[in-house]
Amino acid sequence: MINILFSAHNELWPRYQPVLEAEFAKQNLQVNLFKETNFPETIDYLIYAPTRVDDDLTVFTNLKLIQSLWAGPDKLLKNPTLTQPMARMVDAGMTQGMMDYVFGHIMRHHLQTDKFFHADKWLTDVTLPLPSERVVAFLGIGQLGMACAIAAQEYGFNVIGWSRTLKQDARITCFAGEYQLREVLGQADIVVTLMPATPATERIIGADAIAAMKNGAALINPGRGELIDDDALLAGLRSGKLSGATLDVFREEPLPLDHPYWIEPNVLVTPHIASETRVATASKVVAENIARDLRGEGALFLVDPILKY
Ligand code: NDP
Repeated sequence: MINILFSAHNELWPRYQPVLEAEFAKQNLQVNLFKETNFPETIDYLIYAPTRVDDDLTVFTNLKLIQSLWAGPDKLLKNPTLTQPMARMVDAGMTQGMMDYVFGHIMRHHLQTDKFFHADKWLTDVTLPLPSERVVAFLGIGQLGMACAIAAQEYGFNVIGWSRTLKQDARITCFAGEYQLREVLGQADIVVTLMPATPATERIIGADAIAAMKNGAALINPGRGELIDDDALLAGLRSGKLSGATLDVFREEPLPLDHPYWIEPNVLVTPHIASETRVATASKVVAENIARDLRGEGALFLVDPILKY
């Protein structure tokens, strides 16, 4: 029998428990699925989306894997007691949600919707460009970024992607590495940041990056707040260098009520809702990943402790 502990918000347990049980059965796994335990040393796998990120993980002395329910590993990596392998969540439902969010806001910037929303007069001389006349750049073309990039490309935008390592994908023109960042930023009308928060991505959108962007470009950040130098972004918006920003994630969440983003005219704040883990698809991923691990094939989507994603 395999002992699995589900450690997450109480309200998630009744939603996940029956679906997880069904998915474990499909994998022919006989499991004891617990919501809590007094015997942490008996736990083989931890399904994890904690209410607090300072749990003492050293008590799980026989743990083979932490399967996070979150896509972003940054918060969990801050726990100094984390020594076990950790897989992050890659879930088809979450990916679809992110595609909806990103594509919707690309279209908002593309159609200049906000300008008309706030207009109090009949604006003349407006010819909206076609998607084929726009370049959309994705900084981060991993699981989420690549899915969004392909959707935008298939719709008709010119899409380019940038990542740490060069991607080979016939559909998207790809760039990589620090020295190509300026080149990518200089081409884009809309920049979407879908990278993890790591030491290497901290404030990657700072004054230099903003200076390298096209005049009038827009930014969409559903990645992490740490990617942005907030003062530099505000300066870029106020000078007119950038036309607008859609921000879903922030250094401090909830975004404090006195934060200037709330009242900045060309900023749309959304409350970290770009996408979330979906019970049905995520439970399938959890069961498949644990089954893989038990078969000795190695779990998928393991977080690299050095790269921090
Ligand atoms: P992946 O790990 O699959 O992709 C990350 C991408 O970022 C990869 O392309 C990676 O490059 C790139 N990257 C990482 N470090 C660097 C760097 N230093 N320079 C350039 N590129 C870099 O993650 P996901 O696509 O699954 O998720 C991305 C992020 O989205 C999550 O970490 C999370 O922060 C955020 N997120 C936000 C949500 C929301 O609701 N707002 C919901 C879900 C996720 P390479 O391909 O070379 O490794």
